[in-house]
Amino acid sequence: MQRFGHVIGATCGATTNSHWRPVFDPAQAQPYAEVADGDASTVEAAVAVASAAAAGWAALSSSQRARHLNHLADALEAQLDAFAHAEAIDAGKPLALARDIEIPRAVSNLRFFAHAATQFASESHHGEAGLNYTLRLPLGVVGCISPWNLPLYLFTWKIAPALAAGNAVVAKPSEITPATATMLGELALKVGLPPGVLNIVHGLGPAVGEPLVTHAQVKAVSFTGSTAVGRRIAGLTGPLLKKISLELGGKNATLIFADSDWRANLDTLVRSAFQNSGQICLCGSRLLIDRTIYDEFRDAFVARARALRLGAPLEAGTQLGPMVSQAHFDKVMAAIERARAEGGRVLCGGAALDRPGWFIEPTVIEGLGPGCATNREEIFGPVVTLQVFDNDDEALALANASDYGLSASVWTCNLTRAHRFAAQLRVGIVWVNTWLMRDLRTPFGGTGASGLGREGGLEAMRFFTDPRNVGIALPSPSAHDTP
Ligand code: NAD
Repeated sequence: MQRFGHVIGATCGATTNSHWRPVFDPAQAQPYAEVADGDASTVEAAVAVASAAAAGWAALSSSQRARHLNHLADALEAQLDAFAHAEAIDAGKPLALARDIEIPRAVSNLRFFAHAATQFASESHHGEAGLNYTLRLPLGVVGCISPWNLPLYLFTWKIAPALAAGNAVVAKPSEITPATATMLGELALKVGLPPGVLNIVHGLGPAVGEPLVTHAQVKAVSFTGSTAVGRRIAGLTGPLLKKISLELGGKNATLIFADSDWRANLDTLVRSAFQNSGQICLCGSRLLIDRTIYDEFRDAFVARARALRLGAPLEAGTQLGPMVSQAHFDKVMAAIERARAEGGRVLCGGAALDRPGWFIEPTVIEGLGPGCATNREEIFGPVVTLQVFDNDDEALALANASDYGLSASVWTCNLTRAHRFAAQLRVGIVWVNTWLMRDLRTPFGGTGASGLGREGGLEAMRFFTDPRNVGIALPSPSAHDTP
């Protein structure tokens, strides 16, 4: 059986103890591999190696670091099919999604931050008193923790800026989807990334994640995952005054106005609800619809949802894969039952498929108000609700009736309305007449229960560096004039 071990220094496949955990193929609900089950000693070993490598990596010029990251991006691109295949099996996602979108995006993360390394310069300000300039210095060793839903894409979203900024990294991928991060760590060594600069430790959150985030030598932690774990990390690192960035859950609103071109955009609207079987933090799970188009929209949307083809990742024509794990399947099925108990009418889906694997039908529910748990708690599966509004104020109030604040999409042809909602929605990201538009230069992240801080572009480079201001007195003109 295939095994995914830690990558610590120059050693791949290492375990500091001899424990392994099963890794499941979600489309079969069967183990297909094993992953190392680390503990605090694993973290200790990885941080020691990273600390030893950090100074040498930081001493490289930014263009030398960029060259390393670009080599890794080229190597990943050359093996795109192998990575896409591994990711599809590991996470249960359609091969096309991994091959055409997610692995290519991981390549662009590496290339983007390689370029950013060379563009991210110290700032200087000339004033009357003299010259001020700000050095942006690497932090040393940083910790990166990523979730299972977009395994390689979110892993590279963190390690690329961390490395570009001159830090050594200890990264912990999700224990549920360890395949492609491990493959990338091995590839990095093959293409000459200095050993110790990128280390990968595997294991459960409490056993490996917590020693990592609390380690004295780990100067900053970038975390993407659930709000509950984000809160736990904030609690552990607060007293340590550690720099943290938290990208957490979402309960995103999709606002559909009567004046929008929703018929022409139905494919995108369905994708925004169900891509990766709803297991994307940015999926719109609360659809808010203008009452005057509600019936027509609902019928068209439900018909499209019903037509989505569920299947195993490698089956031709698969549009949606399974839930990633038994635990997640149980959580999503329980959320559907709770929606029924709250009085929701299930318009389509609502059941598991009668086949091996953790498949749940795309599910659309109407009849639930903003206060019920179904509309307040993140489900993170192929489950959306429909709610109706009568005017803009009501639409805004419904959209903002959430503790989360990650993203929203607004569908309207009225420019004034679009700008008003962009300004008044309480979220980190607003899309108008589109969904998941990606520009790596822009700040990414949420507010409220969706997180703390922003990543992406210069925000990430700033997070992974420490600013040091230097003030230098310039000689006064009179001193200059003295012969
Ligand atoms: P999770 O919080 O269970 O786990 C995320 C990572 O944290 C995993 O690597 C896990 O092992 C680790 N972890 C768990 N407990 C830990 C602890 N006590 N200390 C340190 N690390 C710990 O999340 P998940 O189920 O893997 O991912 C799904 C969640 O991630 C959803 O809530 C989703 O919305 C969120 N997410 C957010 C974004 C974003 O950018 N905002 C992107 C993707 C996913």
